[in-house]
Amino acid sequence: MREELKGKIAIVTGGSRGIGLSIAKELASAGAVVAVVARNYEGAMTAAGTLDGSDHKGFSCDVGNRDAVDELAEKVTREMGVVQILVNNAGIARDNLFIRMTEDQWDDVLNVNLKGAFNMTRVLARKMMKTKDGVILNISSVVGLTGNAGQVNYSASKAGLIGFTKSLAKELASRNIRCNAITPGFIESDMTDDLPESVTDDLSSKIPLGYFGRPDDVAGLARFLSGPYARYITGQVISVDGGMAM
Ligand code: NAP
Repeated sequence: MREELKGKIAIVTGGSRGIGLSIAKELASAGAVVAVVARNYEGAMTAAGTLDGSDHKGFSCDVGNRDAVDELAEKVTREMGVVQILVNNAGIARDNLFIRMTEDQWDDVLNVNLKGAFNMTRVLARKMMKTKDGVILNISSVVGLTGNAGQVNYSASKAGLIGFTKSLAKELASRNIRCNAITPGFIESDMTDDLPESVTDDLSSKIPLGYFGRPDDVAGLARFLSGPYARYITGQVISVDGGMAM
């Protein structure tokens, strides 16, 4: 396949494993130079080393920490150049029934999943606006569309990302910055690995295609949305979920 992202600098939060690593790999194989971000520096470095091509780098940052994000953006820009592709993928879950949910569980999830995307975008979109070139991808979730028992915090954060995406798309379109959201369904990863087989079987029976997706199913769409074939697509929410939410 041709290297349609050659010359682009991309940053992928939560790029050390799972869906984020798969997206980082796909963007790199499309020719982008990728900054892989995770809290664990070793994880980010190791992941960056597995990508096709050279010049990729790993960075440690908690996206929920605004000062740390500002520092990260300066460092990436200084060491790699102006970022044109931002993938807000870092996410956590702290599931509990609403009635038992603690304030910490609510705050932690909103702080990483939603405020993390705000922190990253706030500082990097400013730089994209100057160059009138940018793509922002937010990794939401199908439960942001449908809701899910036991996940009021997670679903709210993912629904919030959808409103964030659409508003941002409207504000930044005139600066040639496109902004879209991907809503994955159940994807094989550390986040779903812990589920007991009985739960996995039950969930699979509710997916029209009948099985969990793979991280590269999401990464293929991220590559498409980042590149020139998607130049007229902005403000969209696209599901990769085996038909779960129609
Ligand atoms: P994962 O395997 O648990 O990986 C999470 C990644 O995010 C890791 O690289 C982790 O590295 C990083 N991370 C976590 N907290 C962070 C923070 N505060 N700052 C920076 N990096 C952080 O997750 P995944 O399953 O691939 O999910 C990726 C995204 O897709 C998430 O937003 C998730 O909500 C969404 N999603 C997943 C599924 C699914 O079925 N797996 C479905 C729908 C949506 P460190 O631990 O080193 O920080």
